[in-house]
Amino acid sequence: MTAVHVPGTPVVEDGRLVSTSPATGAEAGRLPVATAADVERAVDRARSAAAWWAGLGFTGRRERLLHWRRLLARRIEELAELVHVEGGKPVADAVVEIVTAVEHVDWAARNARRVLGPRRVRSRLILAEFSAHLEYQPHGVVGVIGPWNYPVFTPIGSAAYALAAGNAVVLKPSEYTPAVGQWLVDTFAEAVPEQPVFTAVHGLGDVGAALCRSGVDKLAFTGSTATAKKVMAACAESLTPVLLEAGGKDAMIVDADADLDAAADACVWGALTNAGQTCIGIERVYAVEPVFDAFVGKVVERAGRLTVGPDGADIGPITMPSQLDVIRRHIDDALARGGRAVLGGADAVQPPYVRPTVLVDVPEDSLAVREETFGPTLTVNRVRDADEAVARANALPYGLGGSVFGRRRAVATARRLRSGMASINSTLTFAGMSTLPFGGVGDSGFGRIHGEDGLREFGRAKAITRRRARSLLPSMTFERTPADVGRLVKAVKMMYGR
Ligand code: NDP
Repeated sequence: MTAVHVPGTPVVEDGRLVSTSPATGAEAGRLPVATAADVERAVDRARSAAAWWAGLGFTGRRERLLHWRRLLARRIEELAELVHVEGGKPVADAVVEIVTAVEHVDWAARNARRVLGPRRVRSRLILAEFSAHLEYQPHGVVGVIGPWNYPVFTPIGSAAYALAAGNAVVLKPSEYTPAVGQWLVDTFAEAVPEQPVFTAVHGLGDVGAALCRSGVDKLAFTGSTATAKKVMAACAESLTPVLLEAGGKDAMIVDADADLDAAADACVWGALTNAGQTCIGIERVYAVEPVFDAFVGKVVERAGRLTVGPDGADIGPITMPSQLDVIRRHIDDALARGGRAVLGGADAVQPPYVRPTVLVDVPEDSLAVREETFGPTLTVNRVRDADEAVARANALPYGLGGSVFGRRRAVATARRLRSGMASINSTLTFAGMSTLPFGGVGDSGFGRIHGEDGLREFGRAKAITRRRARSLLPSMTFERTPADVGRLVKAVKMMYGR
């Protein structure tokens, strides 16, 4: 490939992957493209590093991870600027993303021992003569494949937890954001200079595919549902376990007793932050009839105030130039099927930008309601009540997050959403709560990052029993007598037969 230069589209020049700003076309990063052999070498090096890293124990790893966390926090402006240039998102959005990632590094480092460390668990009467021990041992080398839309938060969401659990990590960042990925591993190497515990390989999709086949002990993928299926198929060849964080089409429900100002504020942010390129972004709203008009009015008023442009604007460019066609198609389809644009609309797409667009009364079978748009657009449809809202929200194969605004029925409604996460009277907040697991159901993937489940995702449960006394009812031995078996039958009837 030679240099083209649609701003933002990465190119390969002389064996180097060149990323550019989607706003200006300025070069952001230039990284060597890995061959399949390079990927294997990186995994081999990581394997010996993994043994050293695991040998440090929880305390040694915690100390080093907290050192890395300090570097991330101290250089937040530098990293935010790089995220801004390479991916196009406003610096303020980049700062929020990094803050969240830093919090996850901190929590994972501080809690790994408590969640994964060796502990006694209770024995039951049936095997009372044995003690039971549980611990979660590292898998070895974890491959992490990341998307471009949150190039700090998404890789760290897997990598920090995998590292805290004692694994080495090889990261394949998106081809759109390789420089951010390299920045993360370089900073980690400053905190942990001894061994290549956290490294990156760069390139296009084939490099991700090579990582799946490289012999990693677990693969954590974040990206689209279509690619997640390819990753799972590749990993199936070697029974490599996978964690899949895939796409979404998250809904927000606005009930009759919602605070409409707060709902509109959170909706506009949840839908339009990072120009709508957020896996857990609000893409659909279902507002109950009595508050529909007032809610839409408040959303339009707030979204209409947002500025769109390069530096300092609220909404930056669309990172992947090819996504502009998808966004245009979704808007056109919604309008052609009878939806109405109350903000933005047919001419909203002005490459590389898209003006905020609010579409109302959009048929449920239109693309803008059913498929991931990944742009600063939003559909708002009216529903009779929260039950109808839940039914519509749950009608898609995706099930990542969601939001409910209301009071009396809000918790019950949130629980009924077919999704891995939900936030009540806010949007997206579960992503920053390091104590909570993050992940989806259905087409949004499976497995969890963050929180205790996120730590366990990167550890192998190791169960150990240890004899502490002679067996009163010997059963697991050929030395047992018919009388022993008879006593066992009596005991089981007494314990479980009543
Ligand atoms: P893609 O699925 O296109 O790419 C994700 C990663 O997979 C990239 O690094 C990509 O490399 C790599 N890849 C591409 N082809 C293969 C392959 N055959 N085998 C292995 N790896 C491959 O997603 P995007 O980068 O476009 O990210 C946007 C998507 O990510 C959206 O659907 C969004 O919802 C989802 N997402 C999900 C999140 C979640 O937590 N559930 C969080 C953030 C985003 P390359 O870039 O070089 O093609």
